[in-house]
Amino acid sequence: MSAVESAVTEPAVTEDEAALRRAAEHAFAYLDSLETRPVAATASLEGLRQALGRPLPERGLSAIQVIDELVADASPGILGSQTGRHFAWVIGGGGPAAMAADWLTTVWDQNAGIYACGPAASVVEEVAAEWLKTLFELPGETSVGFVTGTQMAHATCLAAARHAVLRDRGWDVGRQGLSGAPPIRILANPDRHGSVDRAVRFLGLGSDSIQPLALDDAGRVTGAGLQAALAADPAPTIVVLQAGELNTAAFDPFAELAPIARAAGAWTHVDGAFGLWAKVSPARRDLARGLELCDSWTTDCHKYLNVPYDSGLAFVRDAEAHRAALTLSTSYLPAGGAARDQIEWNPEFSRRARGFAVYAALRELGREGLAALVERTCRHAEALVEGLAALPGAEKVAHPALNQGLVRFGDDLATDRVIAAVNAGGEAYFGGVTWRGRRCMRVSVCNWRTSEADVARAIAAARAVLAEATPASAQAALGSA
Ligand SMILES: *Cc1c(COP(=O)(O)O)cnc(C)c1O
Repeated sequence: MSAVESAVTEPAVTEDEAALRRAAEHAFAYLDSLETRPVAATASLEGLRQALGRPLPERGLSAIQVIDELVADASPGILGSQTGRHFAWVIGGGGPAAMAADWLTTVWDQNAGIYACGPAASVVEEVAAEWLKTLFELPGETSVGFVTGTQMAHATCLAAARHAVLRDRGWDVGRQGLSGAPPIRILANPDRHGSVDRAVRFLGLGSDSIQPLALDDAGRVTGAGLQAALAADPAPTIVVLQAGELNTAAFDPFAELAPIARAAGAWTHVDGAFGLWAKVSPARRDLARGLELCDSWTTDCHKYLNVPYDSGLAFVRDAEAHRAALTLSTSYLPAGGAARDQIEWNPEFSRRARGFAVYAALRELGREGLAALVERTCRHAEALVEGLAALPGAEKVAHPALNQGLVRFGDDLATDRVIAAVNAGGEAYFGGVTWRGRRCMRVSVCNWRTSEADVARAIAAARAVLAEATPASAQAALGSA
C-alpha cells in the first residue's frame, strides 16, 4: 500500500489518541503480567540511571516513541505493588473503576481548586464526602478535604486544631502567628506514624511539643494516662490517637478517651490512614467504637479503597475552624457561592481533581463490596501471619487486629535474611520493622487483588527460603516443613 492509499484508507488518528492507545496497550500488558512477573523490581539503581539517563533531546520525539521507551526503560524498576503478593508497608492496588476514572481525570485535566475551574470535579467531592462521612459514621457537620495522602491530611486537620485551640484562648493564629501565642501541647500515642510529627513540624509547633501518652499491654492509650497528662498542664492541647497502628493495627479506645479529652477542652485527632476503613465492615466496626466522638480524622484512599496514588482525606468536625485555617480568597477567584470551592478545605492552590477516582471506587464497590474487601484482607492477613508463624523456627509476634501483623524468624539477622531472600525470589514482597526492640517481618494486606492462592504462594516462598537456609541435619531434626 502506498503512503497515499494508506492516508486515504486508515482512519485518522490524532497524536493524542495514538499516545493514549499505546499507553493503554502497555497498561494491559502490565496487568496481564501480574501473576508471572517478579514482585520486586529487578533493575539496580545503576541500571535504571543508565536506561533512563538518556540525553535531553534537542528536537522533540514522537509521543509513541517516548512512551515505548519509557516503558522499556522503567519496567525493570517498577515494584509490583499492584500484585496480590505485595505485603510491604501499607500499600493498596488500583481497582478497575478507580484506575479508569483516574485516566479520565488526567484527560479532563481540571484544575480542581475552585468550582469555576471544574464544576463537576467540585460536585463529585461534595457527593463522595457525604458518602464517606456516612460510611465512617462521622458527625453530619464534618467538613472534608481531598488531599494527597494522610501526611497532608494530618497537616490539614492539625492546622484546624491549632486554629481552634488558640481561638479558644482568644488568639487568632492566622493573623497573629505563633510568636507570643500560648504554647500548644500535643499528647500522642507513642506508636504513632512519623507523618504526625512531620505535620507538627510543618505547623511550627515543634516536635518538642509532643508528649507520649501511657499505653496498656496492647499498645492502646489508657484513660488514666490521658487524664493524668491533661491534669498536669492547662496548656491548649491536641490529643493524637490512632485507628490502626502500623504494626499490629491496634486501635485506641476512643469511646473512653474522647470524652476525657473533651471535658478538658482538648482537641482529639485520629490517624486512621487504613484503620478508619474498619468502620465499613460489620465484623470489624467495633474496633473503632467511639471514633465519631473525636474532632478530626485522617485516612487514605490510595490504601484500602484501592484508588491510585495520591489520595487522602482530612475530616474536621469544626468546619469553621477547618475553613478558617485553610481558606484563601483573591479577587481573581470567583467565589463559588453555594458551590464547594476546594481551596477552602485543602492546602493546595491548583490541584488534581482527586474526587473522580474516589467517587468511582465507592460506586464500583458499594457498601457490600467495601465490607467484603476489608473482611477479605483481614482474613488473608490472619492466614499469612498464622501460616508464616507455623514455619520451622518462626514465631508470631503480633496477631493482626485488622490487616497488619508481625512474624519473626529466629533472631534479628535471620529475620532480615528471610525477608531479603523472599523478596529476591520474586514470589512475594515483605517489609521489615523493628518492633519493641526486635526485627520482624511486617505483613500488610490491603490490595483488592490478594487471593487465597497469593497467600499460599507467599507462604510457600518463605518455606522454601527457610528450607534452603537450614542445614539438612537441622531440617531432619525440625521434621518436614
Ligand atoms: C500510610 C500511613 C500514613 C501516611 O500516609 P500517606 O498517605 O503516606 O501520607 C500515616 N499513618 C499511618 C498509620 C499510615 O499507615
